[in-house]
Amino acid sequence: MNHVICQHCGCIEYYYSIKPVRCSTCMEVIEVSKLGEEQRAFARNFPLLLLYAFSLGYTVTFPPEHTRHIANSRHFDGRAKDINLFKDGKYLAKTEDHLPLGLFWEFLGGVWGGRWNDGNHYSWGE
Ligand SMILES: [Zn+2]
Ligand SMILES: [Zn+2]
Repeated sequence: MNHVICQHCGCIEYYYSIKPVRCSTCMEVIEVSKLGEEQRAFARNFPLLLLYAFSLGYTVTFPPEHTRHIANSRHFDGRAKDINLFKDGKYLAKTEDHLPLGLFWEFLGGVWGGRWNDGNHYSWGE
């Protein structure tokens, strides 16, 4: 048996190899292969983003997990994380502060929230 996180409501759905997989909570069809690929790509690339940030002299923290997100956010299915950015002990709050990291993240294939003025948001998938 496999499991996947529903990209519509965020719940965990268990399934056998029968397709399509339908979420038992929200009844929407779950795109299993695309979601899994994007979750893995996010997990594979996110450490590279952090290492790049460290190489540029930044330090980072992660916001508390209870931070609110919009409905259907990539945060709910393992395809996004926000980064609090610091340099020389100073918190860098502006979207522009994230530009070097955002461009690197896009180079890796990720989606950077700076494109919609959410500079500390790094996600994967359309
Ligand atoms: Zn669902
Ligand atoms: Zn975010």
